[in-house]
Amino acid sequence: MKLHFKASLLLVTFLVSGCTNTPEYHLNDGILISNATIISASEDENIRSFEGHILIEADSIVYSGKELPKIKGSYKTINATGKFVIPGLIDSHVHVGHTITLKDEHYETRPELVKSYNEQLPKSYLYFGFTSLIDLDLNENTRNRFQKAAIKPDLYSTSRGVRYFDGYGPGLFPEHLRLKYFPRWIYDQSQLTSIPKDTDLSEHTIPAVVEQTIKDNAIGLKTYYEKGFGGVFDWPVPSDSLLVNLVNEAHQNNLPVVLHATSSDAYKKGLQANVDIFGHGLWHWEGSKLNPNPPDEIKSIYEEIRAKEKYVQSSMRVILGEYDTYTWSLINHPDIKHVLQNDFIKWLKSEEGRWSQEELIALYNSVIKDSTQSKEKYLKTFNERVIRTTKLAYDNGVRLILGSDSPAQEGIGNVPGLNGFLEIEALSEAGVDNKTIFLASTIRNARAFNLQHSLGSIKNGKRANMLILNQNPLLDVKAYNTIATVIVSGISYNREQLSATYNSQ
Ligand SMILES: [Zn+2]
Repeated sequence: MKLHFKASLLLVTFLVSGCTNTPEYHLNDGILISNATIISASEDENIRSFEGHILIEADSIVYSGKELPKIKGSYKTINATGKFVIPGLIDSHVHVGHTITLKDEHYETRPELVKSYNEQLPKSYLYFGFTSLIDLDLNENTRNRFQKAAIKPDLYSTSRGVRYFDGYGPGLFPEHLRLKYFPRWIYDQSQLTSIPKDTDLSEHTIPAVVEQTIKDNAIGLKTYYEKGFGGVFDWPVPSDSLLVNLVNEAHQNNLPVVLHATSSDAYKKGLQANVDIFGHGLWHWEGSKLNPNPPDEIKSIYEEIRAKEKYVQSSMRVILGEYDTYTWSLINHPDIKHVLQNDFIKWLKSEEGRWSQEELIALYNSVIKDSTQSKEKYLKTFNERVIRTTKLAYDNGVRLILGSDSPAQEGIGNVPGLNGFLEIEALSEAGVDNKTIFLASTIRNARAFNLQHSLGSIKNGKRANMLILNQNPLLDVKAYNTIATVIVSGISYNREQLSATYNSQ
């Protein structure tokens, strides 16, 4: 009945105001954002900036334009004079089930820390403006837990990643845990003798894993080509035909494929198999680990990526964040109190809480045999590689998209929410211009995952996910840390409400 009433009201309004062509909007508990500078890009990446107004009803944008339309019904007004409204940011590489500095045993011994971390996690992403997340290896329990939160970003996923039997992922765990932790995997015929006899192999064919992925409402498929991070580990990798067949099957089912790739040979395999998105920057190549300069070959890889219109997730923070775990200096970041609760910060400051730093130092000591140079020098060279390859990709027209891989590691380097902002800062410091960063975090990221119909710009009919900023992000990326209001799914929050300090005030 109510729907009918509303529809006819709108019709009457159309008839009355038909000659002026500006319909009257009848809102029910809506939002008017008035007098804003609206910045949004079209699908062909034209960025438009204009003074105007936005109307939101339920979880959708119903109007955005220069004229203030006639509005009736119930709504609240947010006066955005002097402020900038942009689409909510998208981080297309997260892992909401991974808990920084907490491992399996802590789920038994420190359950209060797990609770504290998980309670704050969705709000931390929103605190830094990430209203949509794409989890690239999500299980059902984590999804259910996340969806129960009252305040949260939109969560999309590629479901469980499709692993390679005994390859990267499973290969990090003892044999009895591998198949339990990584149930979705494929194999080559040559591996048959190593696979446990009681395995139902019909669940591990390419059509079977793609079907499992679709059943989980995935928006894409994630798979891996990783030999061991430039020689630190030694894992088997899928054969060319296995990778090609997997990508073909995913494409036949309209799933874009994200390939975990960090080396030049993995990038080449990805191009050959026609994957759509490279899930990391390119950091590993043959030759001295103390040379930060990417070889010529990498420039030609980027040229091919541009020609084939593939996407690359920068994920600079994977490496830069590892350095932060090594030094632990991120604990002093002024914004950390907003994204982690106080008890969790105390844990990070305790000796026990710094176990991951010790383990990382031990790992470097065991893999870097060179005693003539400091470990620091190796780490800094890797940071430099990340910066130089990102710049090279950008200079060669590669379509970068924002994926922070939060958290990529067990240390302190990838704190949810904050890490996405640090990724934006890192892109800027590497030389990526502000317009590209804006596109990479909004419409381009949506397009890479076929989400452009509902996300990525301020347009009628799209989801009402947006940010009100005090400063202009096209002038300085620091503006992404001047959020006044976050609107997600049509509900507005003052930024303070999303801070970990809010409840303790
Ligand atoms: Zn990842």
